[in-house]
Amino acid sequence: AGEPLASETGNRFIVQKHDATRLHWDLRLEVDGVLKSWAVTKGPSPDPDIKRLAVRTEDHPMSYADFEGVIPKGEYGGGTVMLWDRGTWQPIKGKSASDLEEGHLHFCLEGERMKGEWLLIRLKQKPGEKRENWLLRKLQDDNAEAGDGLVQRELTSVLTGRSMAEIASDKQGEYPLAGKKDDAFLAQMQKASARNACKSR
Ligand code: MN
Repeated sequence: AGEPLASETGNRFIVQKHDATRLHWDLRLEVDGVLKSWAVTKGPSPDPDIKRLAVRTEDHPMSYADFEGVIPKGEYGGGTVMLWDRGTWQPIKGKSASDLEEGHLHFCLEGERMKGEWLLIRLKQKPGEKRENWLLRKLQDDNAEAGDGLVQRELTSVLTGRSMAEIASDKQGEYPLAGKKDDAFLAQMQKASARNACKSR
């Protein structure tokens, strides 16, 4: 007790739906005690034929993994944040998180919504381009499905069941859940492993 979740599992992943200047889904993977982060502009697609632009953003502290609420306008990332998915991740057997340095990661997710095998690939940087553009893509497995159903049907928080509008209009405070630990989720995570999601490999 009292220890951060990070040290208890070490392989969390989360997705925060973020209604900022532009709506996007922030995919964050725990690596070496921080959250490696990508902003997925149209959200993750479970369709292997649909590749999604994932712009690399700065590493976030582990404490941000439980955040849901409203970031005030004018602050970095100002807008409504929903905890849209959470669970554990693992590199595919024989792969490693250090592959990210080489610009690719083949990994497995055991989330409430995102499951199975996924791929992140860094695109070649064009001259003068400051952003690191990556592609996020689902690989074919039992969890793949045609079309864009995932972001279309999953419209509520995995943490509180709230819609974006309900989070946005919550006047309880700007950071209602920041810093609070979710014991039920922790127990669930200790049972589930992302390896299970890719057992067939
Ligand atoms: Mn964001």
